[in-house]
Amino acid sequence: MTRVNCRVVALMLLLGPAVARPLSAETLDERKVRCTSRQMRDLLEQGLRLSPTLASLVDRIERSDVIVYLKLGSTRPGTYGSTQLIGASVFARIVMVTIKSLAPSPDLLDRLGHELQHVVEIAEASDVRDAETLRALLRRIGWMPGADRWETDAAVAQGRRVRIESTRRTGLAAPRQAGGCP
Ligand SMILES: [Zn+2]
Repeated sequence: MTRVNCRVVALMLLLGPAVARPLSAETLDERKVRCTSRQMRDLLEQGLRLSPTLASLVDRIERSDVIVYLKLGSTRPGTYGSTQLIGASVFARIVMVTIKSLAPSPDLLDRLGHELQHVVEIAEASDVRDAETLRALLRRIGWMPGADRWETDAAVAQGRRVRIESTRRTGLAAPRQAGGCP
């Protein structure tokens, strides 16, 4: 039975000045995948070195209108990550990914790949701009294992690929059993 630990939540669509500030040319030139801490940056760079799958996900996001902020932090009990659509403007859609920080490296990279696949799902669905349209997307491509929780096969698969690639190259740990999300 698949155990699902993540949630994809559209918090709110904010078109007001607090979020939808005009973006300068300099801002538009910045990378779309942004880390909120040195630790997160180190994890992302490690993943990019070890996992072609993770690199491909980042590349797909970089070619989209989604800006994603990656942070390590606490997540809801029983979950290891979350992807939240927090705003949209005519310039960009803003997504926040939180990875549960208290986990060994292979789990963090697995979860990062998993959540970045969710970001790609949003990025490649241009109609997703608020909670309602995100739920409509998830009804098409995923399933709802619990209240306020969604999952997709692609995210589970991408997380596993990232884990296999990263552990194969480092030899630090064997891949998890093929029984669901870590
Ligand atoms: Zn998920």
